[in-house]
Amino acid sequence: MHKKTVAIIGGGAAGYFCAANIDRNLYHILILEQGNDVLQKVKISGGGRCNVTHACFDPRELVQFYPRGNRELLSVFTKFQPGDTMEWFVKHDVSLKIEEDGRVFPESNSSKSIITALRNAAEEQNTELHTKTPVKNIILKDNTYLIQAGNISLEADFIVFTTGSSPKSFQLLASLGHSIVPPVPSLFTFNINDRLLEGFSGTSFPNAEINIPGLKAQESGALLITHWGLSGPAVLKISAWEARTLAALEYQFDIRINFIGKTIYEAEALFMEYRGNHSKKTITQSRIFDVTGRFWNRVLELAKILPDKSISNISSKELKSLLRILCEKDFHVNGKSTFKDEFVTAGGVELKEINFKNMASRKLPNFYIAGEVLNIDAVTGGFNFQACWSEAFLIAQDLNTKTF
Ligand SMILES: Cc1cc2nc3c(=O)[nH]c(=O)nc-3n(C[C@H](O)[C@H](O)[C@H](O)COP(=O)(O)OP(=O)(O)OC[C@H]3O[C@@H](n4cnc5c(N)ncnc54)[C@H](O)[C@@H]3O)c2cc1C
Repeated sequence: MHKKTVAIIGGGAAGYFCAANIDRNLYHILILEQGNDVLQKVKISGGGRCNVTHACFDPRELVQFYPRGNRELLSVFTKFQPGDTMEWFVKHDVSLKIEEDGRVFPESNSSKSIITALRNAAEEQNTELHTKTPVKNIILKDNTYLIQAGNISLEADFIVFTTGSSPKSFQLLASLGHSIVPPVPSLFTFNINDRLLEGFSGTSFPNAEINIPGLKAQESGALLITHWGLSGPAVLKISAWEARTLAALEYQFDIRINFIGKTIYEAEALFMEYRGNHSKKTITQSRIFDVTGRFWNRVLELAKILPDKSISNISSKELKSLLRILCEKDFHVNGKSTFKDEFVTAGGVELKEINFKNMASRKLPNFYIAGEVLNIDAVTGGFNFQACWSEAFLIAQDLNTKTF
């Protein structure tokens, strides 16, 4: 039988997972990669450990982690979800571990294990790899594609477009008739200059809440003070959900932080109970809330309360200003910083133009699109890769079940 050719454009997570799952008996598989090497983002992902997926096995729950793509991915995840990803990697000799927060990593703590598994599996399917081969042009002619890439030009019956979010690849897809939602960064941290945070880089608050009053947006979770401002899951989540609105504000906006995740009334009740039982303590000695001693002293400084003052002598005005700093502290955000462990782009191919049964383009015949090039992205935690694996698997499955 004459094999049909599948050209996969982009040797990243989505492209490789697709190649690894296409049946070599049916197709001649090519990967065209512009860089010197493939899987470069996988290599640096998760701080070099590769957070390969998330232990969330219910598709309805899973889609909640995708600010863009949640509706469309539901059917995709019912066909291939994190449990299937884990099974796939284990079958390809990668031992995995689930961390306390649900993130899944290779047992080796090295993205190399994931890369080796993907490369070996793609090689097993006789995938022909062309590095340093940037695809510049794609021409559709009589139901086959002519691809101009680097110095070569070649023909393919099917195209799998998995280039990630590079502006040039958006242009290429636009020239082929696809609409592109303009890209903006997602998953970033907030730059804040405020005396309360000064010198506390590395201090975290496990149960914080963050509000952006102007956008009526709210998130809860762990919060981390950095050299530049605030980070941690709560900030990253809100940065992803509000990626577009915050870009429109040019990253200048006000936030309100609750460092202890308790309302002022709850915090006041705790304070009163503590004071009832420990009336002889000074305010600095009073460990009432889940914050470090140093941070507590800074709160006292900003509330203008002398640390040696007896807790029984704290006035209601002093208490109010102390609790406002802990539970309702306003900050101005002045720009953003990149979250180094994982950063992604919101925006990309308009989702209406994709058939999510098999990830086929609704604009072009025999043309599939997957991965970060689509207007799909997730909060941090392994969800971005999961979208790549699931979408790529669907493409391979669709190709493998075609009859000619
Ligand atoms: C620092 C960092 C850490 C991350 N960590 C995690 C993590 O731990 N967990 C997680 O879930 N997500 C993580 N992510 C996000 C994740 O890496 C991406 O969502 C994922 O890599 C997207 O895969 P992709 O295959 O769509 O694109 P990519 O991985 O970007 O691959 C696209 C490939 O296409 C190539 N290409 C582009 N244009 C062309 C062209 N015209 N011709 C030929 N080749 C082309 C590129 O060179 C690239 O190799 C991280 C991202 C970053 C930047």
